[in-house]
Amino acid sequence: MIYQDSLEFAQDLDEQDELKHFREKFLFPLHKGKDAIYLCGNSLGLQPKSVQEEIAKQLTNWQEHGVECWFHPEARWLEYHLRLKQPLSKILGTKSEEITVMNSLTVNLHLMLVSFYKPTKNKYKIIMEGGAFPSDQYAIESQVNFHGFDPKEAIVEVFPREGKYILRTEDIISAIEQNADELALVLFSGINYYTGQMFDMKAITDAAHKAGAYAGFDLAHAIGNVQLQLHDWNADFAVWCSYKYLNSGPGGISGIYVHEKHFENRELKRFTGWWGYGVGKRFLMTSGFVPASGAEGWQVSTSPILLMAVHKAALDIFEEVGGMEKLQKKAVLLTGYLEYWLKHLNNKYGGELFKIITPSEPEWRGSQLSIICKRNGKAMFDHLSNNGVIGDWREPDVIRLSPVPLYNTFKDVYSAATLLNDSITILE
Ligand SMILES: *Cc1c(COP(=O)(O)O)cnc(C)c1O
Repeated sequence: MIYQDSLEFAQDLDEQDELKHFREKFLFPLHKGKDAIYLCGNSLGLQPKSVQEEIAKQLTNWQEHGVECWFHPEARWLEYHLRLKQPLSKILGTKSEEITVMNSLTVNLHLMLVSFYKPTKNKYKIIMEGGAFPSDQYAIESQVNFHGFDPKEAIVEVFPREGKYILRTEDIISAIEQNADELALVLFSGINYYTGQMFDMKAITDAAHKAGAYAGFDLAHAIGNVQLQLHDWNADFAVWCSYKYLNSGPGGISGIYVHEKHFENRELKRFTGWWGYGVGKRFLMTSGFVPASGAEGWQVSTSPILLMAVHKAALDIFEEVGGMEKLQKKAVLLTGYLEYWLKHLNNKYGGELFKIITPSEPEWRGSQLSIICKRNGKAMFDHLSNNGVIGDWREPDVIRLSPVPLYNTFKDVYSAATLLNDSITILE
């Protein structure tokens, strides 16, 4: 695509966009009485209008049927999560029985580590990306401590090369090979939250398995953003949250994926609860835990129906779109358009005002650009904020902007870019 810097060009692209009517399904924060330009879906996705109705439906069910809702034909709460697994399995590229919906992300990471981090005297190391999201760092560190190992020795972080921001796949693989003898687990994000780099999950999984280690992924920034193929990649487990690109509300319900090859493996330890017991016998309340088959066997507690109602409303929109492919096609154009503008402004002002640290290849990124501002970064960001652009600032000098194909327009990108242009002329 050859981009142009005119408003008409952006409006033309919006006109041709076959997903344009999906914007109507979301509620936008207001700025001075008008819809804000929301470029922060990587942090908290927007609220689908249909959420209120789905919650209201479940509140009415609760009101009218009380505890009977778990079985009542109108509510069927006991199976409510099944309505979420179908759309999620398409987004994740898994079999339906390989996933379930439960808890929060970091909690699920701990539960998965109980099963898949089983350090021994000889094999105890975990390889992860340097600069992983803090919650993941804390979780891993505490697990290593819990097992009586020293995090400094057991955790191997792989960093980009000197002066670089993108981590090379070959460097990840060679770290795995170098540590193979002691390696228990490779845990990576699908997309790094800070740089927006998508990792080669298949290559990482293959290398981990060759080293006799498990491969697990935190998909917080990848799910609903890029097409995933967890089953075919042969990943052992994954966790995610639903409140970023999945638009399922603050602290929304999370989920887990476990590859089917692990279903019958009784060697895998679990922290269990009654909701992981096979549903047919769950209410017999007998002693002695027998896990449900599939990922549901990792469930612990009663389904939080109201969180699941938000999730359902949000996932219905993904179903209506009909596949990640369509979203990704628009995402490539939309993020490409933002990239075009940043380069255009660099050229216009004769220098590298903005350095994009997100990969330039569309196949290794999603709907996010992380931009280092060489001068006046915070002031530029404030100018955007004061004029109705909601983005994300990371100290000391990074702006993250995330144009989301479900609800952002090319005009949104155009408007943000012209505000950046104004901020340069005001501040220089
Ligand atoms: C957003 C995010 C989290 C947040 O975890 P919660 O348990 O939902 O608070 C954790 N890890 C990564 C990689 C994230 O992007």
